[in-house]
Amino acid sequence: MSTEAASASLFNINALFDNPLFAGGIGLASLGAVAAFARKGAIASLGAARRRLLVNVEISKQDPAYPWILAWLSQPRENPGFIASRLTRIHNLSVITTTASRTPGVSGPAQAHFFLQPGYGRHIVKFGSAYISVNREKHNTANMNTGEPHEILQMTTLWSHRHIFEDVFSEAHRLAAKANEGKTVVYSARGMDWVPLGDPRKKRPLASVVLDEGVKESVVADVKDFMERQQWYVDRGIPYRRGYLLFGPPGSGKTSFIQALAGELDFSVAMINLSEMGMTDDKLAYLLTKLPKRSLLLLEDADAAFVNRRQRDSDGYNGATVTFSGLLNALDGVAAGEERIAFLTTNHVDRLDPALIRPGRVDMMLRIGEATRFQAAQMWDRFYGDVDVDHSGRERFLVRLDELGLFGEGPDGKPSNRNTSTAAIQGLFLFNKNDMKGAIDMAEGLIPRKFEA
Ligand code: ADP
Repeated sequence: MSTEAASASLFNINALFDNPLFAGGIGLASLGAVAAFARKGAIASLGAARRRLLVNVEISKQDPAYPWILAWLSQPRENPGFIASRLTRIHNLSVITTTASRTPGVSGPAQAHFFLQPGYGRHIVKFGSAYISVNREKHNTANMNTGEPHEILQMTTLWSHRHIFEDVFSEAHRLAAKANEGKTVVYSARGMDWVPLGDPRKKRPLASVVLDEGVKESVVADVKDFMERQQWYVDRGIPYRRGYLLFGPPGSGKTSFIQALAGELDFSVAMINLSEMGMTDDKLAYLLTKLPKRSLLLLEDADAAFVNRRQRDSDGYNGATVTFSGLLNALDGVAAGEERIAFLTTNHVDRLDPALIRPGRVDMMLRIGEATRFQAAQMWDRFYGDVDVDHSGRERFLVRLDELGLFGEGPDGKPSNRNTSTAAIQGLFLFNKNDMKGAIDMAEGLIPRKFEA
């Protein structure tokens, strides 16, 4: 730029600043800029102060702790006035209603219990001397597995009170454990997630499941032995897994036994029905990688997978159910969980593939069959033991079952098809509660339908 040109442009700028209107404009603009800058600075330092002073914990609905924290916030059992005292500023409550069956012998409608818990929005909660802000939010995105909207719970407290979260979580966990005490949680697969199937059920006593002599004891002893040997497996680099196959006709107590065993071990049950439509190989494999902790895996209708192998061979497989190779992969593929106790059940052992009988897949096979004399006698004692003190009723009942040919053997030495199920005997006894004679008179009803004249 030449000297004249430079001085000309300088002159122009000076002239601009000399103009009072222009100078006023600049002043305003710079004031605005300073204000905006200050505001930004204030927000940033507030944010920084917030970060320094507050601590935030976020729990997603997928996390097992989510329901525990909600239950902890409600805590209706310990102190009915709790909501008012602990949730110091809750404007938004949601209600959970549970119904309980009637008290035996008392007529009237079933009882209903209402539990209040924080609804969506922000709440202030006091815990000890600390205040926690709880924000329950529902997002408008959905969990692709279950189709349910995403939900989070955010808890914020002062940085100096951060240690209270440990207490909050352990108290919530203790409460959840207490609520499930004496109960068995049954999980089923919903989409790609395990979700509790209804409310936890009262533990079923092992003694209430009557299997043939020694069967129950042998499984219980085997499972307990396995549970004590974890280190043995770890030392040898063997996956810590054990599998049992229970086979036999329906209504022989297979499912009941697994539930009772879970109760005995203080485990939950994670149940999948392999014949269910939509249970694909991938889904099964994925679910087995994330089994709920301390649970017995129950794969019902394992024969569905054997049938599918045939279908696939003949190219009829439609991809909507589990195939045999899918089952094997899920059971011992690389991705399968390291620790596992699995029970497979089937009504059709004849369809069984020998490849299933391998350590870690199926280590023990047991027939849970038609009612034997031993079982019929035990079940009788459980129902009528207190009135049939001299066992004469039991003897008459067993003689009657003999007359009806219900304990007979086929030519192959196996129980004949005429034999009855334990479920049918239980049904007969339930129908004739406190009526031994009625049970004996109606014993004919135990003959499987196809053999009735
Ligand atoms: P499965 O799984 O073999 O088909 P379940 O366990 O579902 O049989 O039994 C069906 C019903 O019959 C249940 O109510 C159960 O209490 C009863 N039941 C069947 N077998 C027995 C048994 N061996 N001992 C006690 N109850 C039994």
